[in-house]
Amino acid sequence: MTKRIIDPFLPVDEDGYYGQFGGAYIPEILHSNVERLKEAFEKYADDPDFNAEYEQLLKDYVGRPTPLYHAKRLSEHFGTNIYLKREDLNHTGAHKINNAIASVLLAKRMGKPRIIAETGAGQHGVAVATVCALMGLDCVIYMGATDVARQRPNVERIKMLGAEVRPVTSGNMTLKDATNEAIRDWCCNPQDTFYVIGSTVGPHPYPQMVARFQSVISREIRKQLKEQTGSELPDYVVACIGGGSNAAGAFYHFLKEDNVKLVAAEAAGLGVDSGESAATMKLGKEGIIHGSRTLVMQTEDGQITEPYSISAGLDYPGVGPLHAYLATSGKAEVLAVTDDEALEAAMLLTRLEGIIPALESAHALAVLKQKKFGKDDVVVVNVSGRGDKDMDTYLSKMKIEK
Ligand SMILES: *Cc1c(COP(=O)(O)O)cnc(C)c1O
Repeated sequence: MTKRIIDPFLPVDEDGYYGQFGGAYIPEILHSNVERLKEAFEKYADDPDFNAEYEQLLKDYVGRPTPLYHAKRLSEHFGTNIYLKREDLNHTGAHKINNAIASVLLAKRMGKPRIIAETGAGQHGVAVATVCALMGLDCVIYMGATDVARQRPNVERIKMLGAEVRPVTSGNMTLKDATNEAIRDWCCNPQDTFYVIGSTVGPHPYPQMVARFQSVISREIRKQLKEQTGSELPDYVVACIGGGSNAAGAFYHFLKEDNVKLVAAEAAGLGVDSGESAATMKLGKEGIIHGSRTLVMQTEDGQITEPYSISAGLDYPGVGPLHAYLATSGKAEVLAVTDDEALEAAMLLTRLEGIIPALESAHALAVLKQKKFGKDDVVVVNVSGRGDKDMDTYLSKMKIEK
């Protein structure tokens, strides 16, 4: 019998439910894979050797702790106190590597020589391929054919790192379809294969496990804020949400602090009511996607609707069960940010602070304009990644001369 996986910070029960959301809605054939994974996570989550190896790599390989930067010109512009958590400075350019390292370490402990993953914009694919190169493991990355075409630099990086990219041609040929294909692979190869999910989505224990592996973000924020302001607690923590992993990491150590307000920015695309958005927490209805009961963008008769956002990393028709719970219970405030608002926020950060953010992170930064903050408020914004991968979009949309 699997032991309970308890977590001191997350509002999760032993079956992986966050309120009515979460659980593990999986075909029978995956049952034993998921049980073995739960056992391994239970065994190693608090294991000193596992955590020592993980933390050493975070420090020496990823470059952690990432800075918490007091953005003075941005603060002045908005009349408040803004601190940026610089996940963009991680090796490979985003927060995804935090989870990739811990997950692959777990796979090694379980004796699995083959790693698979899904990817949308390619950031998770690059992170997993990187860690597999580091540890000498076979790696297959599933990617929708549409994304393979529009995210060429990341596809090239994955291949150079020695991983195989398998283009997926079903459905819309994007992230949702790549995830289906990765799950199918996992079903067929239960013995030797470990599936590294890139966000706080999928069947239990994935959402809990990925939140835990990203929680280093808020652990550092508390310590760094204490050093810089004298208090560990900000008034607000702001993060963008695709599936929810960078937000889960940034919120994790504040979830039980009643005085810290959590703000989640999701992608409104061309507008929440335009029919072209990925605003799952505003528009979604309860349903099941990729093994989890959560909010899903769907038609009246339960067909999943195709999401749209300028940002490939936020372009997902579901959301992690933790965030579905935080949003519906009012524990987090959800704001929807359009493509144009994100582009404007990216330009403002670039010109005021000399930091070009990822398009995903620009959605979090756009909250600074949407919401009014007090002059004494301390606002932490998680800058989940850097903008290198988005330069073509920025240049074409903002009419900057090449
Ligand atoms: C993948 C990605 C996201 C969205 O994923 P979450 O799991 O919601 O964090 C956000 N920002 C960056 C830079 C990403 O690469």
